[in-house]
Amino acid sequence: MISDRKLFVVKKVGDALTSAPAEKAVCQRWLDYRRKNRPNERWEMIETPSCRCCGEASWENLRCTKHQDRNPCAVEGCKRTRRANGNLSDCMFICGEHWKAYVPPGSPERRVINRLFALAKKMGFKRNDRWPVDLEERYWRFWQGLCRRVRARSTEGTLDEKEIMEMFGWSDDA
Ligand SMILES: [Zn+2]
Ligand SMILES: [Zn+2]
Repeated sequence: MISDRKLFVVKKVGDALTSAPAEKAVCQRWLDYRRKNRPNERWEMIETPSCRCCGEASWENLRCTKHQDRNPCAVEGCKRTRRANGNLSDCMFICGEHWKAYVPPGSPERRVINRLFALAKKMGFKRNDRWPVDLEERYWRFWQGLCRRVRARSTEGTLDEKEIMEMFGWSDDA
């Protein structure tokens, strides 16, 4: 199950009743079948929300019932999630293993994060304190960019995803 899996439904144009959500190829087959067998009816396929954490059919906030208040790891296909604390977003979290794999010690990204935390410490803030708004904004802007880069790295094949799975002894249904 991947986090950006898209789900679709098939329905008669103008009708509220839809098929169960399914992958595009499955819906396309239904659509072709209906168009062939009921040429006088108009059928359509539309995208339906799917959970960013697991790809199952979801509510409007792009989370299924099970994953309300969870965010997915930024890496495509990773099933690890973290409590969202009300801050639901597509890409707000990098799990421990992918952090080690894509943001290794000494990497420029790690240095920026460390610098931000050092700055906050110098200002007298402890690890779990709220920071001043401008510092928090800087942190989250950087973090979102970092999540995007980690996602890109994982799909560009800098490190083969399968290799990482094996490295950490994960099976596909972990
Ligand atoms: Zn889910
Ligand atoms: Zn991950």
